[in-house]
Amino acid sequence: MAKQAPRVGVIGGGQLARMMTPPAINLGLELKVLAEAAGSSAAMATTQVGDYNQLEVVKKFAQSVDVITFDHEHVPIKVLEALEAEGVNVQPPSKALKFAQNKLHMRQKLGELGLPMPAWAQINDAASLDDFIAANGGVAILKTPIGGYDGKGVRVVRSSAEAKDWLENLADFGGSLLAEEKVDFVRELAQLSARRPSGEFLAWPLVETIQENGVCSVVLAPAPNATAALLEQTQEIAKRVSEGLGVTGVLAVEMFEARDGRIVINELAMRPHNSGHFSIEGSVTSQFEQHLRAVLDLPLGSTLSRAAHSVMVNLLGVDDQNDFVQAYDKALEAHPDAKIHTYGKGARAGRKMGHVTVVSDSAEHALAEARGAAAVLLRG
Ligand code: ADP
Repeated sequence: MAKQAPRVGVIGGGQLARMMTPPAINLGLELKVLAEAAGSSAAMATTQVGDYNQLEVVKKFAQSVDVITFDHEHVPIKVLEALEAEGVNVQPPSKALKFAQNKLHMRQKLGELGLPMPAWAQINDAASLDDFIAANGGVAILKTPIGGYDGKGVRVVRSSAEAKDWLENLADFGGSLLAEEKVDFVRELAQLSARRPSGEFLAWPLVETIQENGVCSVVLAPAPNATAALLEQTQEIAKRVSEGLGVTGVLAVEMFEARDGRIVINELAMRPHNSGHFSIEGSVTSQFEQHLRAVLDLPLGSTLSRAAHSVMVNLLGVDDQNDFVQAYDKALEAHPDAKIHTYGKGARAGRKMGHVTVVSDSAEHALAEARGAAAVLLRG
């Protein structure tokens, strides 16, 4: 009898689940999505609506698939542990995902593994914050350990008075805050990789990410002027993180390249990530296909590049009026090299609404074309 197609269940109906759909179709996998609401970005997949905070909802969803994976890292660890206790295949497993949910736990664990990080401290009161600020040049980056994204939950502070509101409500953030040295960085980098439960590990080329108002706006692949030593170092970091934390599926390690030459880890994402969207056109195997392969413990695909340069530009909402299709005539005609991805989400200023990728032999051409197409799509 023919083997039944493996069924992957994705919790979260955002653009990451949406972009898993084409490779699932190509590989003949069944993709099911548990979405927060009807009409989600991933609505073209077999979607059911339900609250991922409720064990019974997720348990029922899990019964219809062979493996559970994620579009975001917000499913409560208790829910995942309960599923695992019943034998549900969760990838990445709760023991890894808990470090992506809480920045303090992540710092503690990476510290135990001896991985490079900014100086940091757990902050439980105003005095400990003022001590940290004094010891780190009069300034700190203060973060809420849980619930932050796209720069929300990150603040530059020069005294504890500037964090009074957070310090008075520590219970909202799990009881503590995370203070970090303000890294004087020359650029931000991201190392994307994937790992199977049975151990196979592969990395893509290192990329540079450029942020605007705390949100990723441009990704350059590969990172310009990366030395062989840097590439080796960042791949080694990704390997040690994924093995040390037991990550499966795609892992993105966000890093700073400090002016003094240090490479330090900022953040981890245990799922396909914005820094890897370039791989849809730029790599032999996209991060979305690789994630599906990895969580099913299938052999990984080649991460070699299909072009010398890939540039990805995010389509960040300008206002609540963005309708990209209206601009297609103009954008497609003026920028035939641009590959346009839209996420089918309601428009809002600053929101990630889609992205454009251009691959080319020339880094300058790729950047100019991707930026040009994005400008037409956003502003007409
Ligand atoms: P989020 O979880 O909201 O993405 P991050 O921890 O990635 O938050 O921080 C958002 C941005 O703030 C980073 O992209 C970086 O530009 C800046 N930042 C974060 N931590 C530091 C730090 N220790 N030193 C300097 N800048 C930082």
